[in-house]
Amino acid sequence: MAEATLPTEIQLDIVTPDRLAAHDAVTWVTFPGKDGYLGVLPGHAPLLTELGAGELEYTSGNAKHSLAVDGGFAEVLPDRVIVLVQTAERAEDIDVERAEKAKERAEDQLKRFSDPEVDLQHAQEALRRAIARLETAKKYHA
Ligand code: ATP
Repeated sequence: MAEATLPTEIQLDIVTPDRLAAHDAVTWVTFPGKDGYLGVLPGHAPLLTELGAGELEYTSGNAKHSLAVDGGFAEVLPDRVIVLVQTAERAEDIDVERAEKAKERAEDQLKRFSDPEVDLQHAQEALRRAIARLETAKKYHA
């Protein structure tokens, strides 16, 4: 029987409710799983995981790419990774000033945690997104 050959690339698709944020043949991808970062190479065993907020990085050819992502799932197959997320921004497209303002707003709301007007969960999620955007953009601008 012929030996099965391992794939050498992964077809990566990152999909948000509004757009296809990435469609690339990649040799490596890492993303924020719920229990920490997960790195995937071609031939990885199939799995389905929830995503946390953070930075998704991948290598395509000689280029490294980075996006801030939040809120979704990733399906990993030996030669495909499909990422379905609420938001995804490429590092170079992140508006740092906007993310800093969002972070300040969320922190301010969290300080007023006893105020019944404050939606704590919403503030925590907004803070998480803002931090992910700032961390992703910081590496790009470093
Ligand atoms: P803000 O309060 O600044 O709107 P948010 O976290 O509430 O931040 P989201 O609801 O997550 O914003 O995103 C709304 C849209 O704006 C999405 O398309 C998202 O990709 C984009 N977006 C949000 N913040 C930024 C940013 N700092 N830079 C670039 N795009 C952003």
